[in-house]
Amino acid sequence: MDIILYNTLTRKKEVFKPIENNKAKIYTCGPTVYYYAHIGNLRAYLFMDNLRRVLKYNGYTLLHAMNITDVGHLVSDADEGEDKMMKAARRENKDPYEIAKFYTEKFLNDLQSLNIDKPEIICKATDHIKEMEEYVQGIIKNGYTYETENTIYFDTSKLDKYGVLSNIKIEDQKAGARVDFDKSKKNTTDFALWIKAPENHLMKWNTFWGKCYPGWHIECSAMSKKYLGEKFDIHTGGIDHIPIHHENEIAQSKGLTGKIPANYWMHCEFLLINGGKMAKSLNNLYTLKDLEDKGFSPLDYRMFNFSSHYRNKINFTFEAMESAKASLKRLKEGYKAHEQGTANIDNSVIEKYKEQFLQAINDDLNMPVAMSIVWEVVKNQNKSKQFAKLLKDFDSVLGLKIDEESKLEELPQEIIELIEQRKLARQNKDWSKSDELRDIIVSKGYTVKDSKDGMTVEK
Ligand code: AMP
Ligand code: ZN
Repeated sequence: MDIILYNTLTRKKEVFKPIENNKAKIYTCGPTVYYYAHIGNLRAYLFMDNLRRVLKYNGYTLLHAMNITDVGHLVSDADEGEDKMMKAARRENKDPYEIAKFYTEKFLNDLQSLNIDKPEIICKATDHIKEMEEYVQGIIKNGYTYETENTIYFDTSKLDKYGVLSNIKIEDQKAGARVDFDKSKKNTTDFALWIKAPENHLMKWNTFWGKCYPGWHIECSAMSKKYLGEKFDIHTGGIDHIPIHHENEIAQSKGLTGKIPANYWMHCEFLLINGGKMAKSLNNLYTLKDLEDKGFSPLDYRMFNFSSHYRNKINFTFEAMESAKASLKRLKEGYKAHEQGTANIDNSVIEKYKEQFLQAINDDLNMPVAMSIVWEVVKNQNKSKQFAKLLKDFDSVLGLKIDEESKLEELPQEIIELIEQRKLARQNKDWSKSDELRDIIVSKGYTVKDSKDGMTVEK
């Protein structure tokens, strides 16, 4: 069956035609590792995982590279503000390399907790300075750049067309130029390729233009070319990458090779919180750990994401998380009931469900529809091991570990610690301390029952 994907480049759904038969070469823009990934960021990587699993389910082998941005991403996606790594280094009074190492590990742990199938290649920007330097030198040689006092810019007016993804027009950009538009740039859409590092800049390298550091966009062009070649199949990222980062990757690639690097460009919509933006200043930025502390497992969050198509915004609320958590529990119970069933199901019924599921996931990863098929199977009154096997097969795409003992009832660390303290108080016959701790546990949404066998705590 064909796989249909929505291509931002053509603004329509298209049949996926790989460059090489049964092989998909993919590039994903990875995180900037200056802080913990929030659950919005993680939505983008759940989408990446979804794409991987659907392609694998269809028999594709994958060659997939994802970068880790550990230099060059300024506070704005354009060329304004400080490097995010340097800002974090100052905030935490650490070396930027330590910051990168710490948050990269945290990010990779998050991927694992979410059961995200990792790309075959995970590559760091700072390990590829040489490749970036050569890439920039190639663009210079082809005449697409100009120099200012401390920056080598890409001249977007030299391209036959800039803005193929978002349909930006250079003229419109000029007309609406922002006040802080860098006067040394010829066009507002021009962007930095290579930047002279000021004396106090912590991340800099000896390069063809002196002590410099790279612009943000060049890392993805250099690393995708190195690992996937000048032309590959699919490029993914969050929707915010369309107007600047991915336009600039395309510009760079056209400047060096004359080609748009990927045939299909796929973008994941944003996760909203209570209908609005997630921001530290609004105190509504959650990490996976925050969810766990509130009693939700990473796989509950994974389940939550299946309630919306990746091209639609999804609104995060704790009520919706409660419902995702309950659904995952029901799904696991449903699987178990089938596993213990004895009914004999006609093969045509199994094949029909399989076909419907495949149709849904191959229709631009339509997970809400795919989930409705899953529920039909779960709710089938004829309990059968054949259905359990089918659900297990579907789970290779869902990644919900439906056959594993549920960790849903596990208590958050904070509650476990309170229980331990209360046990100790009771051993010491400190009844007022014990009561005080019980009240704290109850105030956090748990019931506490004491019996001769000890204490039971439940959400
Ligand atoms: P960053 O670490 O800032 O480079 O972002 C990592 C990824 O998260 C990028 O693909 C962004 O597009 C994506 N992203 C950022 N915020 C959100 C959000 N609220 N919802 C979904 N994806 C997001
Ligand atoms: Zn990128």
